[in-house]
Amino acid sequence: MYSMLIARYGEISIKGKNRSDFEKKLVDNMQQAVKGLGDIKISRTGGRILIHLNGADYRTVLDTLRWVPGIVSLSPVMTTTQEIEKIEETAVELLNKVVQKPTTFKVEARRANKMFPLTSPELSKVLGSHILKNVPLLSVDVHRPELTFTCEIREQEAYIYVEVIPGPGGLPVGSSGKALLLLSGGIDSPVAGWMAMKRGVEVEAIHFHSYPFTSDRARKKVEDLAKRLAHFGGRCRLHVVHFTEIQKAIRQHCPEELSITVMRRFMMRIADRLAHQRKLLALVTGESLGQVASQTLESMYTINHVTAIPILRPLIAMDKVDIIRIAKDLETYETSILPYEDCCTIFMPKAPRTRPRVEEAVRAERDLNIEELVQEALDKTETVTYYKDMESAEPV
Ligand code: ATP
Ligand code: MG
Repeated sequence: MYSMLIARYGEISIKGKNRSDFEKKLVDNMQQAVKGLGDIKISRTGGRILIHLNGADYRTVLDTLRWVPGIVSLSPVMTTTQEIEKIEETAVELLNKVVQKPTTFKVEARRANKMFPLTSPELSKVLGSHILKNVPLLSVDVHRPELTFTCEIREQEAYIYVEVIPGPGGLPVGSSGKALLLLSGGIDSPVAGWMAMKRGVEVEAIHFHSYPFTSDRARKKVEDLAKRLAHFGGRCRLHVVHFTEIQKAIRQHCPEELSITVMRRFMMRIADRLAHQRKLLALVTGESLGQVASQTLESMYTINHVTAIPILRPLIAMDKVDIIRIAKDLETYETSILPYEDCCTIFMPKAPRTRPRVEEAVRAERDLNIEELVQEALDKTETVTYYKDMESAEPV
């Protein structure tokens, strides 16, 4: 029935002379996203993007594209020639399929092709009365209609649609540079990764793994989350850092109540170094102010102190319920709540300091060979790249 989808984008159209780069990036990302779904052709026209389905299943394509950052909304469209009888016939066919119960509607007609004999208001009127006669469940309400029927007269064809499905909005992934996401197995960090992606950031992920204190299942969980992020961004490179030696050293040489602070400072140092190597310009974390002991301002200050790289915290002001809602939408939630141990929970002190000061952390690290521990962990890091809908990963 539908031969095409229209994708609308908002913000990227206001970027002045960068506009065409942004649009190109968005089209590239869309092309990447629908790869393998059929012989789909995507083109730009008049501030919108047209997706010609060529027989591909519109639902599948829609479900894929509604996760592509930069897209504000999508509509599945029926196309016809510009003969009025054809338009009327198609309108009735579409509405009889879509309308299942008594519904109020209005018609919105737009004439882009000024050669078309009727003006927009005239076309609205003609179509409105034809629809009323032929679709018994519909009645008119021009002020607060439940359904808006749209007919656009373009250069060659007429486009007809009723549905407008929201996309994520934001900016196309890759248009705002690259960052390194600290990806735990928890609920928050995948959501933080998604939020950064939605603002155009391409993310690589780093995970700290403490085998055998944490199991292979815990690692698998993080790999699954990275695959899910690849689904949204086209690909996701995951760096798994072996953190066991560092944790052992911390347990042996640092006061227990500061062990989490010290551990996090190591995470930051390693992430900072890896970001530098990979030319990534920021770190992204799932921290949210006040959520747990290490997420007080004092604690963040002390943990942050070991690095000068910008740290993006997209969830900083969000409540847990809202984060969970997004995680459910993203389908990362089910994976995140699997009960496998995390390196932080295993070494959780009985009474962690909630307001650790920098001097205390520095003192706590006195007996550690920081540089050597960091370097060793970096040397043993394993990296894989996940691609959208790819079962296997490619080691790099
Ligand atoms: P999450 O749900 O993302 O695990 P959380 O509420 O459990 O977050 P913390 O455990 O304090 O909070 O972690 C704060 C942030 O530190 C995480 O969101 C993540 O970005 C990073 N982080 C924590 N543990 C790890 C880990 N093992 N590997 C990589 N990053 C981590
Ligand atoms: Mg966690």
